[in-house]
Amino acid sequence: MIDGGGRTLMSGLCDAHTHFTWNSGGSLDALGGMPVEEHTIVAVQSARIVLDAGYTMCVGAASAKERIDIACRDAINAGMVPGPRYLASGQELATPAGVLVDGISRIVSGTEEMSRAVREMCGMGVEIVKLILSGESITERVWAKDTYMTDAEVRAAVVEAHRVGKRVAAHARSTDSIKQCLREGVDIIYHASYIDDEAADLFEERRDDVFVAPGLHWLWATLYEAAAFGYPQEAAEAVGYKDELDHSIVGLKQLHKRGVRVLPGGDYGFAWTPHGTNARDLQHFVELLDFTPMEAIRAATVLGGEIFERADELGRVAPGYLADLLLVDGDPSSDVTVLQDHDNLVGIMKDGNWHKEPPAAAK
Ligand SMILES: [Zn+2]
Repeated sequence: MIDGGGRTLMSGLCDAHTHFTWNSGGSLDALGGMPVEEHTIVAVQSARIVLDAGYTMCVGAASAKERIDIACRDAINAGMVPGPRYLASGQELATPAGVLVDGISRIVSGTEEMSRAVREMCGMGVEIVKLILSGESITERVWAKDTYMTDAEVRAAVVEAHRVGKRVAAHARSTDSIKQCLREGVDIIYHASYIDDEAADLFEERRDDVFVAPGLHWLWATLYEAAAFGYPQEAAEAVGYKDELDHSIVGLKQLHKRGVRVLPGGDYGFAWTPHGTNARDLQHFVELLDFTPMEAIRAATVLGGEIFERADELGRVAPGYLADLLLVDGDPSSDVTVLQDHDNLVGIMKDGNWHKEPPAAAK
């Protein structure tokens, strides 16, 4: 029995788009050349930081080297290092013309190579296969509105992953790439920036089996908070990030109204979006997408259980559920920003064990 002292008890949070191997450093370009030993330690540190922020569930959205996510997940599950429950991913699969960051992707061309790559990754033990379908305009080389993978390549990945019970997630900003995901059976759609009416209809048809994690804080912070890191707002606007954020807000509001599952989780681990600040996404859901605070919390908890395919034991405080719990100073159901200050996370429990134990006075 623990006396919560009038604080709020809630489920641990879920980040639906996590990269343990992003190092919150100046540029992802450095990741390609980082030796695997150092890189693994970076990832172990990220896992601890994210759990410190109250996140007990994270969906891996690509590992910069092929087995780091897998090794982290296994070490966490074995109790060797602290971290959230984690669905491990492999390297992102990109076509030769569609690579986002040099040196961290596995490059595939054509359906044969795609099938082989997916088969190898699933054999290694990933749960999530990550595809790069559209560009990312900060690169000034591959663009958010352009699409770099064929329908047949996407289909080949989905067929092979599903054949062995694994899921496919995709970086999809362009309208065409979003529709590819929806038509070819991609399970988790990241970003979904440029939704048109047809895409919204396709989303609605698949609302019971698809998840969307827009990664809103990446767009927000790249526009408004990256200047101190050498990327001024004018530069971000010049390559289209304001346009993209505006389109995203319109499209995502529509998906929310139509009952599509939209989850927080935002590609944290860049210099201006460091690991541990993940709860910024919930604020954007409330302020930009008109979610109520409780809807945002449910998107980060109840839907977390669903994206983990463990809705009967994760994401709720209820009899029979696993004890992944936060004891919070303040009331997130009226103000989700209280979750951003880690001092307010008085207690963090995962699987019945304290990761952060409340001070004696709170017991
Ligand atoms: Zn990402």
